[in-house]
Amino acid sequence: MRAIRFDHISKRFPGAPRPAVVRIARSPSGHLAITDRWGATKSFDACLVTCHSWLLTTYMQVEERIFSPKLWMALDRTRFMQSAKTFIMVDRPFWKDKDPKTGRDLMSMTLTDRLTRGTYMFDNGDDRPGVICLSYSWMSDAMKMLPLSVDKRVKLALDALKRVYPTLDIESHIIGDPITVSWETDPNFLGAFKGALPATIAITTGCIATSSRTACRRRSAAFSSPATTSPGPPPGSRAPSRLR
Ligand SMILES: Cc1cc2nc3c(=O)[nH]c(=O)nc-3n(C[C@H](O)[C@H](O)[C@H](O)COP(=O)(O)OP(=O)(O)OC[C@H]3O[C@@H](n4cnc5c(N)ncnc54)[C@H](O)[C@@H]3O)c2cc1C
Repeated sequence: MRAIRFDHISKRFPGAPRPAVVRIARSPSGHLAITDRWGATKSFDACLVTCHSWLLTTYMQVEERIFSPKLWMALDRTRFMQSAKTFIMVDRPFWKDKDPKTGRDLMSMTLTDRLTRGTYMFDNGDDRPGVICLSYSWMSDAMKMLPLSVDKRVKLALDALKRVYPTLDIESHIIGDPITVSWETDPNFLGAFKGALPATIAITTGCIATSSRTACRRRSAAFSSPATTSPGPPPGSRAPSRLR
């Protein structure tokens, strides 16, 4: 398969990005009529949709007949995970200073069961400001952060890291304002990434809704493990199909 390079695409489609799409419909001529958020409609032969699929039923109005009921069902049943990140800017990459007792870096990438979950450093040069992602969390851990202000998220993360690095004074290095993102609250995303868990694969491909539950089980078993499998609908029940 030939790779498509971005410079080819930009040469073929010169110009700036157009405003957000709010409507996709089939025009009487058979073309796709794309309406942007300022109300301008233009016709195109084809439309590549690369945003989160939930936006097709929320931010955008998409004419029902454009997709088959099976595809609508798969789009509706795709699950997206929550995810949150909180960043601070610091005066310099102080974490590379050596601990006199151990000779090792004062701090490094930190994966923990505490609420920060993942802490990462961005080193832009010894005498330049650096960035720390204090916390990168998913699902339930991201939901713990969801209602909290950026300052509260920073405070909680610093408290947790204090327990991991009791002698390190991260606060004294902070400059600028912290930034936090919860992807599930961003109307242009509605979630961070597709939750392609084993049961989700079975549900989005529609096989639970078929009469061949045994075949479905056999197909999804290849993706299953006891730790990740979720139960799905009770035996004998049918997953409701989208009426379109
Ligand atoms: C928290 C987080 C961490 C990740 N970490 C990694 C990682 O470590 N490694 C890795 O490989 N991948 C990672 N990913 C995944 C990676 O970022 C995505 O797979 C990749 O960005 C998807 O690219 P995309 O072009 O399909 O979609 P996106 O980059 O999501 O682009 C979709 C675009 O559609 C636009 N859009 C939305 N609504 C409309 C509209 N109405 N009209 C027009 N445009 C619209 C959006 O603004 C966006 O620019 C991570 C993702 C997240 C959220």
